[in-house]
Amino acid sequence: NRAKQNSVDEFVSKILDGNITFLSRAITLVESTNANHQKKANEILERCLPFTNKSVRIGITGVPGVGKSTFIESFGKHLTSQHKKVAVLAVDPSSSVNKGSILGDKTRMEELVTDKNAFIRPSPSGTSLGGVAQKTRESIILCEAAGFDTIIIETVGVGQSETVVHSMVDFFLLLKLAGAGDELQGIKRGIIEMADAIVINKADGDNEKNAKIAKVEFNRALHLYPIKESNWQPKVLTASALKNIGIDKIDKMIVDYIALTKANNYFDKKRNQQNKYWLLATIDQQLKANFYQNPLIKNALSKEIEDLENGKTTPFNAAKRLLEL
Ligand code: GDP
Repeated sequence: NRAKQNSVDEFVSKILDGNITFLSRAITLVESTNANHQKKANEILERCLPFTNKSVRIGITGVPGVGKSTFIESFGKHLTSQHKKVAVLAVDPSSSVNKGSILGDKTRMEELVTDKNAFIRPSPSGTSLGGVAQKTRESIILCEAAGFDTIIIETVGVGQSETVVHSMVDFFLLLKLAGAGDELQGIKRGIIEMADAIVINKADGDNEKNAKIAKVEFNRALHLYPIKESNWQPKVLTASALKNIGIDKIDKMIVDYIALTKANNYFDKKRNQQNKYWLLATIDQQLKANFYQNPLIKNALSKEIEDLENGKTTPFNAAKRLLEL
């Protein structure tokens, strides 16, 4: 276990030097459930925090098969060709069940993974979405300290995962496919509200015409929402991740968004709000973890559950007793 042997100082200076091996090891510490690892991770994070504010954080969501990894590969390569440094992280709440993440999987981004200006890390596993998201958020900080200026966070539309990713990024992009009209069917309303842009992917070959129709329909839908606090009017674009069409326009759109929101101070305001949200979420997380990991509680909890099953107590009385412990 080499991660344990290196000092916090060593970690921090190597990470700030852009050393990928140390970045990876620090993320492993962040993801560890071992209390010593967590303590060390927190010290590293604290020292890396002052170096995180020059980045752009982009969230990308869409159903499986929409082309997220193909898109991230071509978008990522577009960025690295402009001498940007791109980190790809993921929030996949299902990975704990499946034992292994489907998102951010290196084999899915074959070219980007060999690019020395790109860093790809699969989703951490965890028992709760909140826990997984917390680790990803901490990994963002480490990647930024290591000099990555663009952070892409990928997620699938499972449960609340989009909301959680939305709460850690500057720009939120929804990937969609053109169907046979009726584009808004089956799409969660909240997601449209969160999106700063909708990109209709696979706009190539026979799909091109449908993509254009879908674009009109989504545009109309987006205009029904009140103007956002960012003052940004969400955009609808078409693209082909596979054929590399429209990728430059998406890049330009995000650059425009960042310029607008930096000028009107929304960028900083949103990051501050997100920090507040994460402070509270972390307390929540930690309180729960401390509670359930306490041996006293563990014992008492299984007894209370037994009593509950035997009809000897009620959920409310049991909870009250446990909380008073
Ligand atoms: P993910 O599950 O959202 O990550 O989707 P993938 O990136 O794995 O893509 C799913 C399938 O769609 C793959 O077979 C891709 O080659 C294909 N695909 C992705 N983007 C495009 C595109 O722009 N055009 C076409 N025609 N196929 C695409």
